[in-house]
Amino acid sequence: MAQPRVTILGGGLAGLTLGRCLLQKGIPSVIYDSRPKGAPTRSVFLEPGTYRPLLKVLNIEATEFKRTFGIDIHGRDRTDALQASSATTESWLHVSRTDLERALRKSDGLELEERSEHRLIRATPSQEPSQAAPALDLEFANHHKLRSTLVIDALGTHSALREALLPGIYTLVVEPYAVYNHKKHVEQADYQSKFLTLLNGSTTWTHQPGNPSEPRVHVKLEDHLPSSGSGKPVRMSYTYSRPARVSDNDDPLYKPNRSKSEADNISPEYYKEIDELASVEPIKSNAAIRQLLGQDESAKEEPKGAIKNWLMRTLIVSKQDLLKLLRQYSVAMIGDSVHTTPILGGSGANMAVNDAIELADVIAKHWKSGNITTGVSEFYETKWDEWNNAVQESKWELAALHQPVQPQQTTGAKI
Ligand SMILES: Cc1cc2nc3c(=O)[nH]c(=O)nc-3n(C[C@H](O)[C@H](O)[C@H](O)COP(=O)(O)OP(=O)(O)OC[C@H]3O[C@@H](n4cnc5c(N)ncnc54)[C@H](O)[C@@H]3O)c2cc1C
Repeated sequence: MAQPRVTILGGGLAGLTLGRCLLQKGIPSVIYDSRPKGAPTRSVFLEPGTYRPLLKVLNIEATEFKRTFGIDIHGRDRTDALQASSATTESWLHVSRTDLERALRKSDGLELEERSEHRLIRATPSQEPSQAAPALDLEFANHHKLRSTLVIDALGTHSALREALLPGIYTLVVEPYAVYNHKKHVEQADYQSKFLTLLNGSTTWTHQPGNPSEPRVHVKLEDHLPSSGSGKPVRMSYTYSRPARVSDNDDPLYKPNRSKSEADNISPEYYKEIDELASVEPIKSNAAIRQLLGQDESAKEEPKGAIKNWLMRTLIVSKQDLLKLLRQYSVAMIGDSVHTTPILGGSGANMAVNDAIELADVIAKHWKSGNITTGVSEFYETKWDEWNNAVQESKWELAALHQPVQPQQTTGAKI
């Protein structure tokens, strides 16, 4: 008889961390993901409560973890990254998700079994009469088919499995904020002379207006410079956000129903708003900020993708539905597929990693007895309130970001 294996749908941070933890515990799994193997992903900030447990998962010391995954400019110069983040293990750490995912896949003599370019398109309860336990028949876009008696949904925000098994029940809420993120590269000399000076040596600067309906601009410079003389430009990002003008009912900057591909289509109205900021203190009196905002060169000429419209999505699957999927189909959910928090104000990557580590413990504990449903039900009992609170808190955090306060400078690391 074939050895049972855990089917993990989704090879993002949740799926890969789970697969890795299970492998360490001697439990076989196969991960299915729609992306090509090793496709690059964006960096994330991890809090100590997340990267400390990851040390054990990767069998690595904290210093080595920071050296290997800490990001500096382009995530390449590890020595600088180490210097920048070694002072304390208690601060948030900016990590290369691409490198972290690579290590979760293969390091320390362990390699995950993964099927890339497998996009799940269908999931139906197995009709096989001889099937004693609940099972799902899964079908992928490349025609691969599979029957599984234990499926983990780590498919993220737009989970196709959630939609297949709970059709039409969950719609992502797009919180009413217009948010635009800019990526910019500047020469090292300009970074030192203009931007670091502008920010008084800090790496972040926030313009928070007195009126909450006005835009908030948050500038985040890279935490550290590439090695001097390397000639590498410094990567910076800034985020422009304001509450949606829902009373107008036609806010040109708030497009909650836009498609994924439309994230790069930036409305001319956006540039108009950015230009209007030029009259606001302290932007008016500071040429460097105006340059950062693209007001003394043409922001319109920035390469496609340099500015992105971010949607602030939230979602939480009810405990009742989680238990239903578990009992009827032997499906467990973790990560963004069960709780989605907005990019600003949320900490989805941290939650995804923690979910995976904890679920692996639960599966390992019940693997031999085969009573995984009981274990996962208990897991939901302990986790669901925490997930729900995190989603609600992320909304408050997002709202708090747009509360009227005096203009200020901050040094926090979180975007
Ligand atoms: C720009 C940006 C910045 C962020 N910054 C931070 C941060 O600093 N800190 C933080 O805590 N969080 C951050 N987040 C949130 C964080 O990225 C997510 O919460 C986290 O990635 C969730 O992990 P996950 O594994 O649950 O889902 P995902 O990372 O979304 O992984 C899901 C995986 O499933 C695969 N998949 C999807 N559909 C299918 C399908 N039909 N078939 C097969 N495979 C499929 C995808 O390819 C993907 O690999 C950020 C998000 C964004 C967009």
